[in-house]
Amino acid sequence: MTWLTDLKDLLFPRYCKVCGRRLTKGEQHLCIGCQLDLPRTHYEQKPDNLLMQHFMEWPEVIRATAYFYYHKEGKYSSLIHHLKYYDHPEVGIFLGRMAAKELSPSGYFEGIELIVPVPLSKKKKRKRGYNQCDYIARGISKATGIPTCTDCMERIIDTDTQTHKGSEERWKNTKGIFRVTEPETLKGKHILLVDDVATTGSTLHACISSLLSIPNVRVSVFALSTAKSV
Ligand SMILES: [Zn+2]
Repeated sequence: MTWLTDLKDLLFPRYCKVCGRRLTKGEQHLCIGCQLDLPRTHYEQKPDNLLMQHFMEWPEVIRATAYFYYHKEGKYSSLIHHLKYYDHPEVGIFLGRMAAKELSPSGYFEGIELIVPVPLSKKKKRKRGYNQCDYIARGISKATGIPTCTDCMERIIDTDTQTHKGSEERWKNTKGIFRVTEPETLKGKHILLVDDVATTGSTLHACISSLLSIPNVRVSVFALSTAKSV
């Protein structure tokens, strides 16, 4: 049915979500040039990378990585905007899958038994219609075959973790904002915690502290992107 795909492309041209160039048949969301130029962190090759340093206090945290660098004004921020604000959650599946395919050879997913996305509050999820982290998790799952659990945790406090706060206050502000809802499913597992943007690390920190309340849990972290200063 190539002719049908060709016709669809002709009638409904698709464009690169980063540079705006028209996509060719084999391309999805990103043109090949923007895919190659994506500012990857290669954190998976640096066990003590800047993101991991936030979690050093916990021996149960095995590894942490973020796939690419995020700048608010940078051209790749449009990927995050599409994923979070422009109702294109499928971008999450695409990027999650792409990242997992690239990271797999490094052994990043070895031993991981369950993928758990960082939950949104009920209110925020209702407003957006979806949790973007669920979609990133799904993409990773497609590439690795590791199952996901999208309702093992919930966010019970919808606090703003970012704006105008000193880092001490920010940490305090995130204590107890998540709750594990299915401890039996998580017990004894090596969990991959998935986030979209790791800016201060505080959301992940709060999530991990809840996960570690379950016996014999180990946690690794995958963030789709990270601010360069993290
Ligand atoms: Zn492009």
